[in-house]
Amino acid sequence: MKNIWQDKEAKKFSGTNLGLRVYSSRLLGKNPELVLHGGGNTSVKGYYKNIFGEKIETLFIKGSGWDLISIEEDGFAPVDLNQLIRLANLHQLTDSQMVMQQKIATLRPSAPNPSVEAILHALIPYKYVDHTHADAVLAISNTPSGRKKINEIYGEDILIVPYVMPGFILAKKIAELTKNIDWSTLNGMILLNHGVFSFGIDAKTSYDRMINIVSKAEQYLKNKEVWRKYNKSTSKLDLLTLARIRKKASEMTGKACLAGLNNSPEAVGFSKIKGVQKLCLKGTLTPDHVIRTKPFAWIINDDLDISAQDFIKRYEAYFQKNKSKDITKLDSGPKWALWPGNGTVSFGTSKKQVQIVRDINKHTIRAMQTSSNLDDWKPISFSDLFDMEYWELEQAKLKNDNQTLEFQGKVAVITGAASGIGYQCSKKLLDNGCAVIGLDKNKEVLELFSEFDAYKGLYCDLTKTTDVKKVVSTSVKEFGGIDILISNAGVFSSSEYLHRIDDKKWQQDLDINLATHHRILRECIPYLKLGIDPAVIFMGSRNACAPGSGAGTYTIAKSGLTQMSRLAAIELSKYNIRVNIVHPDCVYDTGVWSHNILKERAKHYGLSVNEYKRRNLLKVDVSSMDVAELVTFLASTKSSKTTGAQIPVDGGNDRII
Ligand code: ZN
Repeated sequence: MKNIWQDKEAKKFSGTNLGLRVYSSRLLGKNPELVLHGGGNTSVKGYYKNIFGEKIETLFIKGSGWDLISIEEDGFAPVDLNQLIRLANLHQLTDSQMVMQQKIATLRPSAPNPSVEAILHALIPYKYVDHTHADAVLAISNTPSGRKKINEIYGEDILIVPYVMPGFILAKKIAELTKNIDWSTLNGMILLNHGVFSFGIDAKTSYDRMINIVSKAEQYLKNKEVWRKYNKSTSKLDLLTLARIRKKASEMTGKACLAGLNNSPEAVGFSKIKGVQKLCLKGTLTPDHVIRTKPFAWIINDDLDISAQDFIKRYEAYFQKNKSKDITKLDSGPKWALWPGNGTVSFGTSKKQVQIVRDINKHTIRAMQTSSNLDDWKPISFSDLFDMEYWELEQAKLKNDNQTLEFQGKVAVITGAASGIGYQCSKKLLDNGCAVIGLDKNKEVLELFSEFDAYKGLYCDLTKTTDVKKVVSTSVKEFGGIDILISNAGVFSSSEYLHRIDDKKWQQDLDINLATHHRILRECIPYLKLGIDPAVIFMGSRNACAPGSGAGTYTIAKSGLTQMSRLAAIELSKYNIRVNIVHPDCVYDTGVWSHNILKERAKHYGLSVNEYKRRNLLKVDVSSMDVAELVTFLASTKSSKTTGAQIPVDGGNDRII
């Protein structure tokens, strides 16, 4: 393992008390083979000056909710060191007592909750303490004779600690094991099936020791030639089955989930190895992964229903066997699946969750192969995993992730997303938890909504079938399926009287304003059939019901679209896909309507701009946001009994009413 400490870089951090603690914590966080997504923790001992100017011996420890890769000084909770040591001397301390006492001993009220390993860090008589879940060490430790192998690799300077539950019990165990030990003879500790601790008098020593400990494990694995390399994957991408898998996973979970396929050569190779199913049913790389991944995978086979039942039964049996009183079972949905021959699939109700599971899974399947090539894969027991999965302190970590928004876990494809109505629909759905694929010919669509990880903008010329097929495939690859299609894109083609519309204009205009809607619908239908509460919303126009002379191809296209929407509602009803069309009018906050055009049109009718904008029965401005509100309603389950409808959003028009 490469040591990435750089003196020059470290110097920039050395001006403050916690500077180097921040620097080396980030170095650990940067390496996914050491820690992943909030895993691991670090601390430094020092002093905290109170308002009386008194120096209090303090442990600055990573606060929960912070990731080592991006930690700042504020991410370390200052905790009264002597209070922590007194807590370690108690015979018993429940989890909730421990959390409360650690909070009471925290010297800054706004600090995050100290890590559950704070007491353990306090007990280690070194200034700097680093803790990781290094892949290489775990791949060796998670084997039937893991302890023996670890003994072989490491000398007297590494303390080996058998697995016990993290938190107070682990702190007590370490206290007991180190009672008569001379700490100066130790460079670190290996917690079997869990991870590594290193420590030192300064940040660099502790970091160097961590890298050395992990490098030794890597060298051992290299010597044993247990690391496999895979050639380019030859598996064919079966997106329809992926969408089916995602739908089934959502049913099992009881709510809509996104799915992320890992079909890298390594994942596909893994999914084909002999005995792979057994490996995937045995447990996790390190205990705290279980809250993200559940203790085992969903093993997919040709019959999805049966394989889903197998998973549900297995999880139920695991729960019944290990539960104690007053524990409520979590949902029966899988967090990841082994898809033999195709790789692995990760699930979550948000893109972030899918990404976390996917990253953890990537490291887990590598360790599973390494361990089984070395000997066999044997992580901690299900009963220990259960204690972690249902540990209140672990569940608390998920609280922020589990907020449920109306469209959480759903996927929408929106055309014309770069501006106007399409933009507002995208924003509204993203704000409500939906994953959105925004399509547009305007390349700005690629750069929008960078604050949302569940947004993907794609360039698409909807008049080209190849473009449309490509973006639909990309959508399914990205999120696992399609539930909502908002077919919005269109252009105001120039007005022309019928006798002056030539063949070219007819063809062009009808292609842009009618055929494109059919094209995107056609390509989405196979996936919408596998969608969750699937819905299609077309963007019509007041024009379709109340044409104006000279509106020509535009109004003809919108009328055709209205008829297609009605037809689609009939044809797709058997798949439970709802199809509705909205007819906006007087929406002038879109790019098309510049102030000059508005002024010109108002003048044409002898009206002021405001009068022109509000020439509807209610005399109101209609905005893109108003249209987006209606579209969102039609995309939601609140309108689950409505299909084939045409709804105006135009402030009222007496020619239609
Ligand atoms: Zn740990």
